[in-house]
Amino acid sequence: MATFVETLAAASQVLGVIKELRDIDKGLSQGELKARMADLYSSVADIRMALADANEELRAKDREIAELKARFEQTSQLVEFRGYQYKAGPDGKPRGKPMCPVCMGDGKHVPLSNILDVMHQCPKCQGNFGLLQEFPG
Ligand SMILES: [Zn+2]
Repeated sequence: MATFVETLAAASQVLGVIKELRDIDKGLSQGELKARMADLYSSVADIRMALADANEELRAKDREIAELKARFEQTSQLVEFRGYQYKAGPDGKPRGKPMCPVCMGDGKHVPLSNILDVMHQCPKCQGNFGLLQEFPG
């Protein structure tokens, strides 16, 4: 896999060839000119490949970051209270609304909505869980 350093080196090479072409003596033969152009095409093709590799590398890193973020989210501090998971405050005590236990199975933390103080409902899966305890914060 090409690195950014290699990509930059290839780009410098192309710039060098372009500069040469610009400074070229008009006495340059058709054959020499064609050879320089072939070099240029080849270098541009190298850059294109290197950029494609670098792009794939960046995407892989993005995927890895997203995975790590999701894992961090899953393992971020939760605390159980009467069978439901809540976010834990710095004191380790439950805060806010209970998380949907159904969506938690998919690794998502979805706080349940309090519907008119009658029940708690998941805004995502629409599950109803009766009226549950909420905590400040
Ligand atoms: Zn849910």
